[in-house]
Amino acid sequence: MAFTSYMSAALEQARAAALRGEVPVGAVIVGPQGQIVAAAGNRTRELNDPTAHAEMLAIRAACDAVGSERLGGHALYVTLEPCAMCAGAIAAARIARLYYGASDPKSGGVAQGARVFSHPQCHHVPEVYDDIAGQEAQAMLTDFFAGKRKG
Ligand SMILES: [Zn+2]
Repeated sequence: MAFTSYMSAALEQARAAALRGEVPVGAVIVGPQGQIVAAAGNRTRELNDPTAHAEMLAIRAACDAVGSERLGGHALYVTLEPCAMCAGAIAAARIARLYYGASDPKSGGVAQGARVFSHPQCHHVPEVYDDIAGQEAQAMLTDFFAGKRKG
């Protein structure tokens, strides 16, 4: 099915982020015709930028590619539940559908924590689908942090 292959592409981005020494989170944005318009992994350390989450970088790249600040009709696939900052950006970009993998009890802002899309202030609420390849995404994060502790 299409959504699993898009999530595979996001997992590839997460894997590449881990190899760069970044927390392994990856995201892809899929256009209305089903084409991947942007793909990114976490780069907060490389860019010295706490906002350089995979979702933020993918949204910036997709907006640039589309030539618009809005991504109506687009879908975002990300390996980890977006944080409150990214959920805010997803709403601002008018992304139509959000698919995410692992849930994030520590920093997630969709199903827990700030629950950004549940706020009356949220101007746009995407359709949300969770636990897409969630175990694989979670295993990657667990391995990454286990390796960090050993190192
Ligand atoms: Zn984020």
